[in-house]
Amino acid sequence: MSDRLAGIKDNLEKLQSRIDKACQEAKRSSTEITLIAVTKTYPADDVDLLKQLGIDDVGENKDQEASLKRTQVQADFNWHFIGQLQSNKAKSVVSYAHLIHSVDRPSLAKEIQKSAQGVEKKQAVLIQLDLDQSGPDPSRGGLWPTELMALAQQITDSSHLELKGLMSVAPLGENPADAFARLAVIRTDFLKAYPQASILSAGMSDDLEAAILHGATHLRIGSALLGERPKIG
Ligand SMILES: *Cc1c(COP(=O)(O)O)cnc(C)c1O
Repeated sequence: MSDRLAGIKDNLEKLQSRIDKACQEAKRSSTEITLIAVTKTYPADDVDLLKQLGIDDVGENKDQEASLKRTQVQADFNWHFIGQLQSNKAKSVVSYAHLIHSVDRPSLAKEIQKSAQGVEKKQAVLIQLDLDQSGPDPSRGGLWPTELMALAQQITDSSHLELKGLMSVAPLGENPADAFARLAVIRTDFLKAYPQASILSAGMSDDLEAAILHGATHLRIGSALLGERPKIG
């Protein structure tokens, strides 16, 4: 086994025990949790190593990087798109995305619908919510929660979109547990109208315990699995 593989394996074991412990405390089963390895900035070789460790789901936040890496990776994965998405990249992302986590505005949903229709694909999507309490801010990514039901309706009415649930990132400068508690309240209401849309993509390396406690079904984990990302820019 290469050193790199051994290192990731070790990280995965530690991560899995954090997940198991958090699930126990939340009285949930760890089989409810899907681990998405966030592979942004890491090379294709690392992605292939993940397959050897039983990981089937990977997440990327930039179309350009994801499109290239996908052609370099040997193994088959479910590719999750988790980053802010410009409408002009929708067509490319639809060509490979298993699940798009970051639908946060009507115009983007419309563009994804158009692209999916063009290739006769039913595209699975999540609505990304902005939990920052400082007010709506389009530069931040995420939909202001009061707009949720309207966008959910639009997606449900779109022939080539399938609404699978919600996604959020804990805002900076706030205890993630408080933000995820608000998210859980929003989700409870949302599920009354859209019971099939049961995915909750929340929780990263530093806040996965709080996310699990508040109902996360999909964790997006980068650094705890693959090590510190090189700081770019
Ligand atoms: C980078 C990223 C992650 C993973 O972050 P880590 O702290 O490395 O686990 C999760 N979600 C999104 C949207 C990201 O951009």
